[in-house]
Amino acid sequence: MASNSQIKTRFAPSPTGFMHIGNLRTALYSYLLAKSQGGKFILRIEDTDQERLVEGAQDVIIKTLEMTGIDYDEGPGVGGENGPYIQSERKGIYLEYAKKLIESGHAYYCFCTAERLKSLHDENGLGGYDRHCRDLSKEEIEKNLAEGKPYVIRQKMPLEGTTSYVDEVYGKVDMDNSELQDQILIKADGFPTYNFCHVIDDYLMGVTHVVRGNEYLTSTPKYCLLYDAFGWERPHYVHLPLLMGKDADGNVSKL
Ligand code: GLU
Ligand code: ZN
Repeated sequence: MASNSQIKTRFAPSPTGFMHIGNLRTALYSYLLAKSQGGKFILRIEDTDQERLVEGAQDVIIKTLEMTGIDYDEGPGVGGENGPYIQSERKGIYLEYAKKLIESGHAYYCFCTAERLKSLHDENGLGGYDRHCRDLSKEEIEKNLAEGKPYVIRQKMPLEGTTSYVDEVYGKVDMDNSELQDQILIKADGFPTYNFCHVIDDYLMGVTHVVRGNEYLTSTPKYCLLYDAFGWERPHYVHLPLLMGKDADGNVSKL
């Protein structure tokens, strides 16, 4: 963690497709916010969704930043004291932190099979996890682990109360905790979800201001709960509207 009060921002794209102009604008705002305050700017590659990786996408990200002069102080190829900056190279770190949450009662092992989870969905594929494994006994958990049963690790959401934060752009955001699903932090393949690893990295990399698209505005309470569970100071959040445009066929989508 940065020990001084210098601000630090990051751009954290996923190499799951090619950059939208909106991604680039997010990178630019994040960069400008840091630079206008004499702060630092990081590039982090979020490649833990291994199924959706697109070959060459990471190169395009790096080349685009280079072409547009958005230089980063830390990141792949540049290095820095908080690396590596590619999430797939940090797998062990996330598991270690997930286990800390299990120990402190903020996360738990879920051994449900894919079939069981599927059976919880209605015909529209809707319906969430029923918290079946939330209160397994210690003996049951140890037996399952010893048998080598596959598992995921889930966040144990509070069942009551409200989680709030103040976004620098949108103002106060309130979420009823009863609306929150016990989301997956570590998947069965051992890779973390975005929902977990970006929080761990933002903390470990000393990010003070999280600048990103507003599609994360309403999931941020879940991330705030992770900061709280670890006893870490939450960062400032700066959500930006997406840039939308009309496709050739008249549909509106990300520009
Ligand atoms: N990898 C995420 C994305 O590309 C990053 C979101 C964030 O900046 O936290 O949407
Ligand atoms: Zn389960």
